[in-house]
Amino acid sequence: MDADPGVPISTPSTPSSSRTRTTRSRPLGARASDAPPSPRTASDSDPAAAPAAVFASATATSVGTPATSPFAALGLTQPLLKAVAACGYSRPSPIQEQCIPAVLAGWDVLAAAQTGTGKTAGFTLPLLERLLHGAHARSGVVRALVLTPTRELAAQVNDSVRAYSRFLDLRSDVVFGGVSPNPQIDRLRRGTDVLVATPGRLLDLHQQGAMKLDRVEILVLDEADRMLDMGFLRDIRRILALLPQRRQTLLFSATFSADIRHLATGLLHQPVQLQATPENQAAPSVEAILHPCDMARKPALLSHLIRSNDWQQVLVFSRTKHGANRVAEQLCHDGVQAAAIHGNKSQGARTRALSGFKSGELRVLVATDIAARGIDIQQLPHVVNLDLPNQAEDYVHRIGRTGRAGCVGQAVSLVAAEEHELLRAIERLLGERLPRREVPGFEPTVLSAPPLDLSGGRGRTPRGGGGGRASSGGRAASSGGRASSSGRAAGGGPAPTRRR
Ligand code: AMP
Repeated sequence: MDADPGVPISTPSTPSSSRTRTTRSRPLGARASDAPPSPRTASDSDPAAAPAAVFASATATSVGTPATSPFAALGLTQPLLKAVAACGYSRPSPIQEQCIPAVLAGWDVLAAAQTGTGKTAGFTLPLLERLLHGAHARSGVVRALVLTPTRELAAQVNDSVRAYSRFLDLRSDVVFGGVSPNPQIDRLRRGTDVLVATPGRLLDLHQQGAMKLDRVEILVLDEADRMLDMGFLRDIRRILALLPQRRQTLLFSATFSADIRHLATGLLHQPVQLQATPENQAAPSVEAILHPCDMARKPALLSHLIRSNDWQQVLVFSRTKHGANRVAEQLCHDGVQAAAIHGNKSQGARTRALSGFKSGELRVLVATDIAARGIDIQQLPHVVNLDLPNQAEDYVHRIGRTGRAGCVGQAVSLVAAEEHELLRAIERLLGERLPRREVPGFEPTVLSAPPLDLSGGRGRTPRGGGGGRASSGGRAASSGGRASSSGRAAGGGPAPTRRR
């Protein structure tokens, strides 16, 4: 691990040095060295000292008036408390309990938190609270910048910013690729308090003089691990060079790879480190099962499972864009309303598919890993892995889409012999063997086969390979077609073994 100046990662259940850290406050935009810490106690009504008490006093049933809301004890003021109440949040999630006071106190934050933990409100609420007390953005100025890896996540974060700032006089905006830049340029020239952006489009707009980034007071990197996976590191570094040295930086990541720690080391100053859920552990409310089957029969098995179990809302993960299209077509052919969502689809098609799925008009959404980031649907009942992911960690992210908010969800993986290596990596990560159940009529005939070639013809690439800017849908290993049941071997391995 690289040298890390921060405090150790804390979980909500353990007494945390981050709590100690958050009792010190820093003015917005100041570095740790600029503002010597001024120790205070809970009796000074420092919001940062409140989390433990808030957890104990919050009830799951009472939203409460804004003044008595547990969010008030974290240090948020009236307009934000009203917005939180309007969203129906009765108590802060663990990441919010930790993050809100830390951000309000001016600390840099390094947080391990996935979608579904409430992380967006965790950084947005205190960010808005801080901006609220400063001067409005002047023309061409951006005061807070939130970088996200995908368009979908950018749109979703922007929706949250709008919801939480509805009673505030702050201007927010979102910019991403795939749509005309001209209206974005016009809007940005007026000045933006909170700008949510994907890195590539942000740089393009900056190059065109749409806005300046040298007045940014708060920077948020959301899903930083995914940004690195997508080859955005160079863009991020270019953006950082445009920002002022004096700022507050918050970095959210589902995992803490060596790359993330390296990035964080140069970026964050004495960060408070937070963790929403233990890394690489699936939510206990997810019932995971796998159905062994032949590669070529997966679309038919998927269709059978959906129809025979009468599943009404199913998110299906496909390793490839081509595979996603093919299975969506097959499902529609079988009378199941389905659409595919991936980086080759236009922004309009992606937005339509997502809203159709959310509204229940579409029963099935077939997504690649990248496109699925940012899909936030409460209490999704079924997630299906049509293919196992190339990276074992993605299995955890994928099935985290179901079983949210205490609801039991079902995560089903269709696994062919060619994927046994991927399965072993997943089970090693989880530390347990996933239960297998053959589906009558779909029993596998191929029992062992050479592993898939995941390189897309370029040789195996490690996670995060690339370095250049990728399109929102493009991850190196995901563009190759799916192997046939005869097994497209990596480097010509042994012939498949069939059941007699
Ligand atoms: P996120 O992890 O930020 O993607 O948020 C996941 C979902 O949790 C979103 O739909 C939020 O609206 C919701 N959410 C965030 N904070 C709370 C809260 N304190 N109580 C209930 N729901 C919340």
